[in-house]
Amino acid sequence: MSDDSPFLSALRRLDAVAEVVDIPEETFLRLRHPKAVLTVSVPLRRDDGSLEIFTAHRVHHNDLRGPGKGGLRYHPDVTLDECKALAFWMTCKCAVMDLPYGGAKGGIAVDPKSLSLLELERLSRGLIRRIAEFIGPQLDIPAPDVYTNERIMGWMMDEYAHVVRRHEPAVITGKPLALGGSHGRSDATARGGYVCIAKLAEERGWKPAETTVAIQGFGNAGQGIARLLDEAGYRIIAVGDSSGAIFSEDGFDVPSLIKAKNETRKLEAVYCEGSICDQVDANRISNAELLELDVDILIPAALEDVITTDNAANIKARTILELANGPVTSDADDILDEAGITVIPDILANAGGVTVSYYEWVQNRSGDYWSADEVRQRLENRMSYQFDRVMELAAEKEISLRMAAYALALKRLGESAEAVGTRDLFNGKD
Ligand code: NAD
Repeated sequence: MSDDSPFLSALRRLDAVAEVVDIPEETFLRLRHPKAVLTVSVPLRRDDGSLEIFTAHRVHHNDLRGPGKGGLRYHPDVTLDECKALAFWMTCKCAVMDLPYGGAKGGIAVDPKSLSLLELERLSRGLIRRIAEFIGPQLDIPAPDVYTNERIMGWMMDEYAHVVRRHEPAVITGKPLALGGSHGRSDATARGGYVCIAKLAEERGWKPAETTVAIQGFGNAGQGIARLLDEAGYRIIAVGDSSGAIFSEDGFDVPSLIKAKNETRKLEAVYCEGSICDQVDANRISNAELLELDVDILIPAALEDVITTDNAANIKARTILELANGPVTSDADDILDEAGITVIPDILANAGGVTVSYYEWVQNRSGDYWSADEVRQRLENRMSYQFDRVMELAAEKEISLRMAAYALALKRLGESAEAVGTRDLFNGKD
């Protein structure tokens, strides 16, 4: 693994946490080694009759607290090492939210926008046939991530049922409602992030109309948080997607932005062909400029590693809500801390998604389905409760919210490691 390996970079945060909290040494040892990794080739018969082979990975990082849980990503840059980092974050995120899950993640190295709708379906079903023995309701439960969505989850669940020859909706979450999905899953990631902002706003006395926001990424997470903040009266002054970003000093009318972006779906209900930059008449800026805008709240909601040692010193936002996984590299943490920027870390900020995925899994397994209000209430209660635990720990130890979130996760993982026995137990010291 190279020094800039995403997995090594992710693990570096463990060293910092080990210095401030007392966690059994073996917990760290366990977290440094993913439990199992699987790499497969997925053949795809293209519409023109040709055959193409794609590489896919699935990583089980840790299952001390329960079966693996984590998304499936379709992106040309997907690598095994990136999946390991994303799976490690899932282990920590599920522990922060006190969900009975471990961490997993996977993806296919593919540009899904280059596929037809039928090719996309064949590829998704082909992936499930290849990884069917590696996933399952008690083993590893995939979900949507970058460039995968509920329609794709529906195909995958259907294919899994063909492979195992029984209906098994709890194998995958983020499904359409009509196929056993849950109310509130589609905007769960954003809603969880919104709870964090609302709690911080209450504590710090923010006035929404005077609070400016920039959002990088305008897909599931980015659009959802834009809508919720707009409804609460915040001023969204910049949004971006893979092609660039747009800026408006006065703030955007968010419903029309979302409409414009989604009007250009290339494949029915899957991808947007047009960039927000081409759809809306506004000042164009680059994604790099968006990150450095003088705003109150910056929300990275696209890919990892966008704030690094190269640009961290230029960040002017007072608060960063990490809706994306891993948007800040571990070596940039100190620069943001020293600048007094509050970072609500990914393993807390975007945990609303996995929380409602958990509710979906519970509903699938019990056969008892909940109303939208019930899902929302449960999500808000859990987010709010765990947010308070992280804030308390940060205040008590005088550490950042990121360190506190990791410390909370490691404490819970450490309790599980101790329950199965550490060196002290086997040496008769317990
Ligand atoms: P999505 O596919 O719905 O949207 C991704 C967005 O990112 C799109 O608007 C795309 O144009 C934009 N994008 C892609 N490459 C970009 C680039 N180089 N620069 C700027 N923008 C770029 O994905 P999503 O589900 O919204 O996921 C976004 C992030 O949130 C990811 O880091 C994902 O891991 C994280 N996340 C998602 C969920 C979920 O439930 N969907 C849960 C937790 C975390």
